[in-house]
Amino acid sequence: MNQQNALLYAHKNYYPQALRFVRDHIVKIIPEKSPMFKWLCVIGFKIAAKNKHTLRTSMKIDIPVVEHCNLSCKCCTAFGPLAKEYFLDVASYRKDMERLAMLTNNRLESVCFTGGEPLLHPRLLEMFDIARAFFPVAELSFMTNGVLLVKMEKNFWEHCRKNKVCIGLSRYPIKLDMDRLRKTAELYKVRLDYVGGSKTPIKAMWKYPLDLAGKQPLSRSFNICNQVNSCIRMKEGKIYPCNTIACIEHFNRFFGKNLEVTKDDSIEIRNVTSIHEIYAFLIKPKPFCKYCNRAGIQLGIPWGVSKKEITEWV
Ligand code: SF4
Ligand code: SF4
Repeated sequence: MNQQNALLYAHKNYYPQALRFVRDHIVKIIPEKSPMFKWLCVIGFKIAAKNKHTLRTSMKIDIPVVEHCNLSCKCCTAFGPLAKEYFLDVASYRKDMERLAMLTNNRLESVCFTGGEPLLHPRLLEMFDIARAFFPVAELSFMTNGVLLVKMEKNFWEHCRKNKVCIGLSRYPIKLDMDRLRKTAELYKVRLDYVGGSKTPIKAMWKYPLDLAGKQPLSRSFNICNQVNSCIRMKEGKIYPCNTIACIEHFNRFFGKNLEVTKDDSIEIRNVTSIHEIYAFLIKPKPFCKYCNRAGIQLGIPWGVSKKEITEWV
């Protein structure tokens, strides 16, 4: 698959087809904040969930290389504004990639480096090399808010080209010299575009409220969850089914809460004997889903800097 398709593929996983249609087209005629838009989104989630709750036949993975961010967006679903500085240890990452390569016979659909803001990791290029060495034909990409991208030097762009790494930009209402970025990417033959494509609208924030009392029926949350079988995170030997579980420690620490993550909310890649165990794990509701009020989603929240108030997440 070429780089263009690889980036489109990455988009497909972040925004299932029905949901992308809503975002890219319906949003032009129905305000994102309206009840109608929300209703359409929940329908989109349900349609997408039907496809997504089937066993995978190949694996994709997101790697959070940092969890803090240089852009503190309100309602960030990865809790970036609340996260302490964290840099994924390269030796631990290499071990995890090696194990995943053994389980998959060196075949992954895609690896997406994510965060927080992945460009904050000083050894990101080394991680590209490792991913490409273990997975010669996987689609590699990373997601960025773009702030640091304009400062990247020749060596960075050459590494992206050498490893066929695509760049997906989240389109926030911040100043970015897109002409310059596009020209540089073209010069180095690196695929770069907004996540969702060049015509994607400026991003408004969506809030998926947490239920601090943990009273949500597991299946109801899980069955409309757009992260299921899609936002699969691997970190320090564990695979998580979603960002929420993988990053909730930041929310808990910052606000002094204890939304409990149990051993059944993730799976240890060293303990599985085949990749099919991971596929089966990914399609089952998790104990943590009781904290996720997915039906209470709030859409069309204008982008802004987080005030780090709990109401942004509950
Ligand atoms: S750029 Fe992304 S990761 Fe960073 S704070 Fe904003 S939403 Fe979160
Ligand atoms: S905890 Fe469950 S419902 Fe919440 S994001 Fe994760 S998989 Fe989805």
